[in-house]
Amino acid sequence: MFRVLLLAPPGAGKGTQGSMLSERFGIPHLATGDLFRHHIEEATPVGVEAKAYVDAGELVPDELVTDLVLGSLDTDPPLSEYILDGFPRTLPQARVAFEWARSTGRTFTAVIMLEVPVGELVTRLIDRGRESGRSDDSIDVIHHRLHEYGTRTAPLIEFYESRGILHRVDGTGSIEDVAQRIDVELANAGFASSS
Ligand code: AMP
Repeated sequence: MFRVLLLAPPGAGKGTQGSMLSERFGIPHLATGDLFRHHIEEATPVGVEAKAYVDAGELVPDELVTDLVLGSLDTDPPLSEYILDGFPRTLPQARVAFEWARSTGRTFTAVIMLEVPVGELVTRLIDRGRESGRSDDSIDVIHHRLHEYGTRTAPLIEFYESRGILHRVDGTGSIEDVAQRIDVELANAGFASSS
């Protein structure tokens, strides 16, 4: 079963690779950053609560995140396969996600970790900020987001490595090269795309 988590620092290409993976394998893709940006734009109660955290480059509190994400995955009928991008991002979120997945028989089958040197991440995020005007792609906020990743998300690497489902992928080079490396890792894990 194709239940894949993309784990990577900001700017590593999770969003781009997540939507391409979704197309190649025909599996729904849930990006929590997009979900929050949508709620903020629509000024929903979740969006109003999350806005200050997202704008400051801080992680949104775990409880708000887990309720929102697991709620989106609890569809009727339940999604048996999915690509998660940006969740879980802290150990408490990972534990809640694991309990949820275990209780519904839908634990992650592979975690793809994209590796990109920090200098390149900063350059990519600054360039993206210029093009998209994303409020959290300014230099101070970028540094804060990278710090949040290093202190709060990086411990997930060990969490998934110890479960034997972590696949490290070089995230540098062209989008197509990275997509091909992901496909090789997924093929090693028993998943072949149709294209
Ligand atoms: P992203 O688009 O994945 O870089 O996410 C943008 C922002 O959304 C992050 O900087 C956080 O403020 C928030 N966010 C997204 N996913 C999570 C998560 N799993 N836990 C906490 N905050 C999150």
